[in-house]
Amino acid sequence: MLGRMQDWPLTVDKILDHAAINHGTREIISRSVAGPIVRTTYADIRVRARKVSEALLARGVKLGDRIGTLAWNSGDHMETWYGTMGIGSVLHTLNPRLYPEQLVWIINHAEDRMMFFDVTFLPLLEAIADKLPTVETFVMYGDDSMLPESTKLPNLISNEAFLSGMSGAGVTWGGFDENTACGLCYTSGTTGDPKGVLYSHRSNVLHSLISQHVDAMGVGASDVVLPIVPMFHANCWGLVFSLPIAGSTIVMPGAQLDGESVYELLDAEKVTYSAAVPTVWMMLAEYLEQSGKMLPHLKRVTIGGSAVPENIIRLFEGKYDVQVDHGWGMTETSPLGSYCAMSPETKDLPFEEKIKVKLKQGRALFGAELNVVDDAGRQLPRDGKSSGHLMIRGCAIAASYYKDVGGNILDENGWFDTSDVANIDRYGFMQITDRAKDVIKSGGEWISSIELENIAVGHEAVANAAVIGVAHPKWDERPLLIVQLKQDCSVAPEELLALIGQHVAKWQVPDDVVFVNEIPLGATGKINKLALRETFRDYKFPTA
Ligand code: AMP
Repeated sequence: MLGRMQDWPLTVDKILDHAAINHGTREIISRSVAGPIVRTTYADIRVRARKVSEALLARGVKLGDRIGTLAWNSGDHMETWYGTMGIGSVLHTLNPRLYPEQLVWIINHAEDRMMFFDVTFLPLLEAIADKLPTVETFVMYGDDSMLPESTKLPNLISNEAFLSGMSGAGVTWGGFDENTACGLCYTSGTTGDPKGVLYSHRSNVLHSLISQHVDAMGVGASDVVLPIVPMFHANCWGLVFSLPIAGSTIVMPGAQLDGESVYELLDAEKVTYSAAVPTVWMMLAEYLEQSGKMLPHLKRVTIGGSAVPENIIRLFEGKYDVQVDHGWGMTETSPLGSYCAMSPETKDLPFEEKIKVKLKQGRALFGAELNVVDDAGRQLPRDGKSSGHLMIRGCAIAASYYKDVGGNILDENGWFDTSDVANIDRYGFMQITDRAKDVIKSGGEWISSIELENIAVGHEAVANAAVIGVAHPKWDERPLLIVQLKQDCSVAPEELLALIGQHVAKWQVPDDVVFVNEIPLGATGKINKLALRETFRDYKFPTA
């Protein structure tokens, strides 16, 4: 027997419709890349998003076509986002912090047909445009006055020119299956080629409802929210969907994420809630300490992407009276998988005890099951001590990567291995204790150790090389290059770092090089990273 409830496909166009109808006058405030603050509303964003749809359709964009964006958080970006998804084409957010060859690989793999971008990325795109055969049109945010006099980009048009003459009136949004692909985001948090996570409309709607829970990132229509986490990082942690559901005012920070710029927006717009990786809060803390400024409006922040540092909890909760919440997730998990909200067992603990709980990554949210297993796949006890592979499954968790890169990623019971190592306590609080994947997370962005090692061993003086992540006060982790030289050979550290700098982005180059007599190997002949991490646990970078 079937239930007798209405069929209402969970497609994300309904989110913006809802916001425009019920919270239409609420503002979306953006710091544009050109500098000035631009104010618009949910109702305006919807009108212009429908114009985006009409302009895309006029250029032959169809259901399932990929549309790329290389842009910071802004109202313009949000219009492209909903305009693309509304007609069932796939919004592919690109991370401008990747180095050009990686972007070329990803854009070609996704076969993006169009590329929307901020003016700041014009030189980057011009440098790679001849390697992007699938991109038919480049759309630069702004009007014609911002266009360069000449460009290497074929079919470059300003966003305003792209939208001119469009009314959006005849456009139909939705009307397709809720499992239709909606957004594409590549993760480089794995070894090997980047992997595309292809979200569906259904998974995005469900994740938005889940993350809007009161014991998660839940906010209300009276909140003013500054999503600092970029739209190219796992859907801005879902906020571009969940904030219109709540009807919150949104403050989009654009490109400037330094402490002073973030403070200016928090203060001027009376922001009540924000979300970002630890490095952003470190930079804000430094600015506040230096300037003596306070945070009278900000009530709560969500920190994730890397473990929240204890001093940030102490400082923000102790001195600035801002509640610090810790969340965990991955690009593959939409991203929020767990959230550290207090429970009846923990809420009244003394501050020092509570901090220990807040350092944990929190409890599974409904829709995401968590499990910790040993090497043989056996479930470990929920005792807060037994650490093992953290597994996840649920309604907004990847089932496979785009074009099946990496093959089957689920075990026989449908669990996805996060490559994080964690334990879970008896109240359900999960804590990450290690990382099984050989990558380093610096300021919220991934660096592949293997890639750096391969470049280093290419030097004639190097017998073996290992790269590990070592704690850094500002960037969470920075790469340290450990080198075993060939007999009777020598090389200056600067030479090795310069060699690496020829192949990767500047911020991915290790901060330091140390030479060792022998790099430890494990039983299978692979570098024993665990032993190296132990040896260099207390290592301090000259830059720290
Ligand atoms: P990404 O796909 O780039 O969002 O990276 C996901 C990975 O970042 C996770 O698998 C973890 O290794 C790490 N991560 C995310 N949030 C946290 C957190 N709160 N604490 C520790 N590691 C985290």
